[in-house]
Amino acid sequence: MATFDGLPPLREVIETHGLVAKKSLGQNFLLDLNLTSKIARQAGDLSKCDVLEVGPGPGGLTRGLLAEGARRVLAVEKDSRAIAALSEIAAAYPGRLEVLNADALEIDPRDRLTPPVRVVANLPYNVGTELLVRWLTPPEWPPYWTSLTLMFQREVAERIVAQPGSRTYGRLAILAQWRTRPRIVMELPPEAFSPPPKIHSSVVHLEALTAPRFAAEPKVLERVVAAGFNQRRKMLRAALRGLAPDIEDRLAAAGIRPTDRAEQVPIEGWCALAREMAKG
Ligand code: SAM
Repeated sequence: MATFDGLPPLREVIETHGLVAKKSLGQNFLLDLNLTSKIARQAGDLSKCDVLEVGPGPGGLTRGLLAEGARRVLAVEKDSRAIAALSEIAAAYPGRLEVLNADALEIDPRDRLTPPVRVVANLPYNVGTELLVRWLTPPEWPPYWTSLTLMFQREVAERIVAQPGSRTYGRLAILAQWRTRPRIVMELPPEAFSPPPKIHSSVVHLEALTAPRFAAEPKVLERVVAAGFNQRRKMLRAALRGLAPDIEDRLAAAGIRPTDRAEQVPIEGWCALAREMAKG
């Protein structure tokens, strides 16, 4: 059966190249090219962008990105078994796909990319969360990417968009919402993948803001937020005592009640507290 890009169907690609899914690499492949094109469309207009795709596997999402008009795709895949399959896609889209056989946690892809850059990935969930935190905490802002479109297990996606007062509100929500606009844009049931995982998945799209929503030193903000949520059941005057002996005064100066718990404080409050802590 022909596909829209003239390449073999993904099931055939997987068979031809012996890409039996490896649990150790978190491999759950998307086989429906209509679905991968739909995910690619969630990343916005790709025609004037380079796309960094992490974990392309047999290339279903890669083909979606190219079919949706990405100017160029840099695909970083750790599993060397997938490289031959990805090279066939590169041949079908001359000059538009570069494949890098590497661990995305170990490389810096920036000098291979021309801005504007959009990042798209369906990754194993542990790697996805680790990379998300790195993408959200670069030394400079705005970062080198303009958006991230990432697949997560639904529970992680909910933590990224969580609002104050909710059980899922924490460090991830604050890091994400301080300097990006995150939205859940798609939900996928386990059957969308082969093999099906145990959990439901969600695609989250995060647009980088040009400037943070509230002023704060990133490192100080990360420190106070981590301390606050490490003991999320405690009142902040107790949870943050180790940060400064006069923490109650600093909380008050930031407009936060010392008896509040971390999950009650909106991002604006955390940033105000980070500014108070930065005063020395
Ligand atoms: N994107 C493909 C799809 O949607 O069908 C594959 C998704 S599968 C969930 C995750 C992919 O990430 C696998 O191909 C796996 O080999 C790759 N991967 C896992 N860890 C990686 C890492 N550290 N760096 C780069 N790729 C990685």
